Amino acid sequence: MKYTNTELEEKANSLLNNVLLEVFAQNNKIIGKHPSKLSHEIGIDYFYEIRDRTTGESLNVVFNQNKGTEKINIIKGKSYPEAGNISFQLKLRHAKYFLNELNKPIFFTVCDLKLMKVYWYWIQLDNSIKERIEAQLKTNKRTLQIFIPITNELNLKNFDKFYMELEKSDRIQTHKFLKSKLSSDEEYDFKDLENPEINIIDKILKSIKKFDGLTIIPKHVISRMYPFKGTKNKTYFYNETLYTDNSEFYDLFEALERKNNTITVKKEFRDNISISNFENELKEIIDFLKSNLIQHFKWNGKGYKDRICIHALYDYSNTCDCERCNYNKLNFKYATDLLKNRKQNDTSIIKFRQAYTYYLLGDLKNAYLLYKEVIHETKNKDNSILNILCKYNLINLKNLIKNHYFESDRHQILIELKKINFVYDEILIEHNYYKHVFDWIKENQFINNSIWEIDRQFTEIQNHHRKDKNGGYFRGQQANNLKFEFLRVSFFIEYNLIIYDVFNEFQILVHKSLESMFALYNIYNPDSTKYDKFEFTFLYNWLMHGDSTKVNRLLLKYDINQIELNDELLVFNRFNDNLDNLILSIKRINENKENYLFRDKVKNIIQNFAYILSRIKMRKTKLNLLLKKYISLIVLLKDDYLVSLIKFETLFHYRSDINLTNTKNILKLLSEYELFDTHSYNKGFDYYLSIQNFEKKDNRLVNIFSKIGTSLNEETIENDFFSNFSKYQNVLEVPELKEEIIKVVKKAAIKRLEDNFDSKYYYRLSIYDI
Ligand SMILES: [Zn+2]
Repeated sequence: MKYTNTELEEKANSLLNNVLLEVFAQNNKIIGKHPSKLSHEIGIDYFYEIRDRTTGESLNVVFNQNKGTEKINIIKGKSYPEAGNISFQLKLRHAKYFLNELNKPIFFTVCDLKLMKVYWYWIQLDNSIKERIEAQLKTNKRTLQIFIPITNELNLKNFDKFYMELEKSDRIQTHKFLKSKLSSDEEYDFKDLENPEINIIDKILKSIKKFDGLTIIPKHVISRMYPFKGTKNKTYFYNETLYTDNSEFYDLFEALERKNNTITVKKEFRDNISISNFENELKEIIDFLKSNLIQHFKWNGKGYKDRICIHALYDYSNTCDCERCNYNKLNFKYATDLLKNRKQNDTSIIKFRQAYTYYLLGDLKNAYLLYKEVIHETKNKDNSILNILCKYNLINLKNLIKNHYFESDRHQILIELKKINFVYDEILIEHNYYKHVFDWIKENQFINNSIWEIDRQFTEIQNHHRKDKNGGYFRGQQANNLKFEFLRVSFFIEYNLIIYDVFNEFQILVHKSLESMFALYNIYNPDSTKYDKFEFTFLYNWLMHGDSTKVNRLLLKYDINQIELNDELLVFNRFNDNLDNLILSIKRINENKENYLFRDKVKNIIQNFAYILSRIKMRKTKLNLLLKKYISLIVLLKDDYLVSLIKFETLFHYRSDINLTNTKNILKLLSEYELFDTHSYNKGFDYYLSIQNFEKKDNRLVNIFSKIGTSLNEETIENDFFSNFSKYQNVLEVPELKEEIIKVVKKAAIKRLEDNFDSKYYYRLSIYDI
């Protein structure tokens, strides 16, 4: 008997759907299938919607083309480069469509109907496809052979790989799609500002203010905004430099300088340019340039003009003391106090910032209430960007509330939140600048583009890492590009107060950029020392957003033993402040033990601190001061579970400059929680012994124990020795101490065994010849 083609197709489809249903269900996801109407035109059989099993949140949409066969065609012959793969034939025009026009991921599957196995392949991730399509086109072929690795069997074991590829494919296609969309040539209508009566400073500020509430404006938008923009095609960004040919704009900044902390006009320009009455506006503009990472202007018009160093105008004395800035400095207490004393007449923008801080502190309900207020206040304003930002944040807040908020009004809030969407905003869009920003936020382009870009750079760095060749230029440039790409997206999220950092993608981004930095750091290159140092921003993002366990894995993978700092004093000052602020906030932290969102964040920060302190290069006194505060913080938190999580051993492993007091305090802390049989304690004890001088006479056992906080005398030591044997294993490794201990416990131990024989105890004693 032979199955018909239709029967084979049906068998293959039901096999695929069963396997998909199972592997997604086991991974807490739901995959819903929809037959595609376009099947014959473009070769897509199904599209699938993937949702989170718990929250119902829609995660992705993917397409599929499936094929079943009773005999899998595996390529044989060792000399053949594709040997071991499954060969699969595809229509050339379909391949072209999938690669260039489809904005969603697509995977192919081949079903082995004899062994009931499914193999997958993501065409958009195949780097050789583009060239091969072109080759086929040249020779007028209509089909394309693709090769599916036999290792890509779709099953539970391989699910993580499959899903990772799905997400990567999604990012690549989204990026391609957006790039083609954004390159469309649309001019912004800023005619109202092109009036010669308006002062240039006013023009710039009014231009920025069209984006109410948006502090960081995407680069592709800024370069189209008058007066940043001169004529078409002459204004663009290259990394941190803005090229423009608007002379009115350029001449203003050319004339400015910062002297004694104020911006003034250089002498030679004073006849033409005046900034009096515009000092505050100018300050606002320079802050805007700073947070948008615009460091230089270059003249792109007729004639020659020097490059302008905008960063020389920046004001670094940030003295903002608002609730959000306090949160960033880890002063949770003051941030909370400020929120308690909100004023009724605060502007929408301030309320928006306060709502964000509530969210940061894990107070989802108050965040929700304030965002709702702001939405209400801005709803009648046409094309309000603040309104979009609020909606965006509320949509993300909805998922947080679903997972973390269980008060009695939970249901009511979720019903309200369900009503929030962008449908009407999309219909009502009038200005193309608004549309650009709207899409940028709504479609998560800010993060997708950055992940794509950092991915690309990471691959390049890794290739280099493998080869270990060392072009200094390559490395310096790479580090610089990476830095700006990463900063841009983290500033976008941070300054625009976008609720995003809880999402997986942002963590991925932080990890990717840290991994890239570690890989760069580790490339041996005697010629280049310029980028061997870490900037505070990376450490800060690691502290706040890095998953401590995962970052530790990266540290080990790239063999990072010590981290040189770009600005040691800055790092010390900031971490010193952070630790002081955490200590100030102890009460607030302990009161919020039930708030898991906040509590886990704090725990992660504290764990990250241990890893950071174990590696940064810093003067001994400064480092020990930070450690001292770190230890007091942990003592005050009184959280035994947290203490057991912190990897103190990493401190003792990588440092040799921890002072005696800090060492003793760590050991004391660990012994108070009875964490004797741990890496932390063992490493700490070894370290403690290594910095002691045993030639001295005061090395009596009791003395040693009193130093590490265990109050024992000669009588009680044996008792403790019997019941907490593992605690003493370290001591027994050191011959001098072993002798001491034998002296003290021997008699009592023999008596104990005579009175009541304990085979385990006897065995332990005999191992150590006692
Ligand atoms: Zn502030």
